[in-house]
Amino acid sequence: MTFDLRAALPYLLPKAIAWAEEREAEILRTGIPLNEYDFTIAKRVGIARPERVRVVLVDDQLPLPSDPELQHACVTTGLFGPHMAGITLGHGIYICRPHASIRLLSHECRHVYQYEQAGSIAVFLHAYLHEIADYGYENSPFEIDARVHEIRA
Ligand SMILES: [Zn+2]
Repeated sequence: MTFDLRAALPYLLPKAIAWAEEREAEILRTGIPLNEYDFTIAKRVGIARPERVRVVLVDDQLPLPSDPELQHACVTTGLFGPHMAGITLGHGIYICRPHASIRLLSHECRHVYQYEQAGSIAVFLHAYLHEIADYGYENSPFEIDARVHEIRA
């Protein structure tokens, strides 16, 4: 039996939003600002406020939500697979150090742009998670858009 993300969204979304807002606040508090070169990458993918972006490098695993249901949803939908090299929450970006690259940074920066366009974490995640439910992770239009805007150094 597969996990039905669409059916779970009404109760998972508020938890996902609360988790993302907490993590963003932490990244904005503890993360590093973009350097001069990364700033140009952020500009190129369309970010309006690159000076607000902060990055936290993690050594192995991206931080999973502690809520068991949310964690289960993340893992089964592929949002936090072993291949997962980065995740963006508002203007906060987690990058897995071994996977750090300009390509990955530009991909995550495009997600920052998508959050900016949405106007808030709540609005973006609502749209993003419904897309994941409808198209799957790989084929979701937000992910395709982020891949199209990847910059290769
Ligand atoms: Zn992505």
